[in-house]
Amino acid sequence: MAITELHKSGKSGYILAMGEILVEIMATERGQSFRRPGTLVGPYASGAPAIFIDQVAKAGSPCAMIGCVGDDDFGALNVERLRADGVDVSGIAVIKSATTGSAFVTYRDDGDRDFIYNIANSASGHLSVGNVRDDLLKRCRHFHVMGSSLFSFRIIEAMKKVIETVKGSGGTVSFDPNIRKEMLRIPEMREALDFILDYTDVFLPSGHEVMLLVGAGTEAAAIEELLKRGVKEVVVKRGKEGCSYYDGETTLHLPALPVEEVDPTGAGDCFGGTYIACRSQGMALEKALRYASAAGALAVSHRGPMEGTATLEELDAFIASKAE
Ligand code: ATP
Ligand code: MG
Repeated sequence: MAITELHKSGKSGYILAMGEILVEIMATERGQSFRRPGTLVGPYASGAPAIFIDQVAKAGSPCAMIGCVGDDDFGALNVERLRADGVDVSGIAVIKSATTGSAFVTYRDDGDRDFIYNIANSASGHLSVGNVRDDLLKRCRHFHVMGSSLFSFRIIEAMKKVIETVKGSGGTVSFDPNIRKEMLRIPEMREALDFILDYTDVFLPSGHEVMLLVGAGTEAAAIEELLKRGVKEVVVKRGKEGCSYYDGETTLHLPALPVEEVDPTGAGDCFGGTYIACRSQGMALEKALRYASAAGALAVSHRGPMEGTATLEELDAFIASKAE
């Protein structure tokens, strides 16, 4: 089913995300090395699925998050933030014996980022099928998967359960691959990504990810292959080059809004959250893409991955300010 048909069918319920909940702590200088002491700033609420779902809530769609945090202030910072923005956080478990995940990031002179992650060994690594509560599943009408969340086989098992249940009850699935190439070398990981793609209605790759999971050698052929395989909408994120939409009938390119890029982390998640929320509210394609692009542009103009999330009213004001 297409995500907008969901709205027409009157099926109400949650947009659901599941996966890592982190804080991010960042270097304050370009080119700052983690091999010597320096000034850091944070903690900021982070984790790709958490950023996504926070933006969904701000865009006005009912939503919930499944994940794990430690019994510490990093976890509280993130959970309280999600709760305040309107996310149902009842599916976030507090693991007494673990600490909340974290990511340290520094920006190279060329703009590339280096990360030190503590995710797999953090509370987020405890996430398993036992965290998937039936009442949340029953209320879920759309499930969003982040490739970055698929770092353990326990999590993949939990993802498969949610995907099968949601699709089995007439819901829809979106998938942002957010993949590191190294993941594809692990056969089970590749198999998991193929499984998810088979159930995906809305695919949200970054430009270079379009061809990652299919055999085709060009972007156009890859998109054709994805649509043939059953994906209904492909929305390609191209950073400051904007975004493109393909569904086999309609092709649309939207330029990015001109902004000063302060911090690129989180742009794709804010873009995706806005697009999925707007489309599930039944919004027309071009309008939804416009809001999604604005959310991405706003995200890069704020320091901190979740600090740029915005309501549709705030996005209206931001778009209007760029038209002046
Ligand atoms: P990441 O995984 O690093 O968060 P992504 O590759 O998933 O990012 P991007 O393409 O970087 O996603 O960003 C998503 C959208 O946000 C873009 O399609 C664009 O509309 C907007 N955007 C991103 N970077 C910029 C920028 N520098 N200026 C204006 N808009 C931007
Ligand atoms: Mg991304």
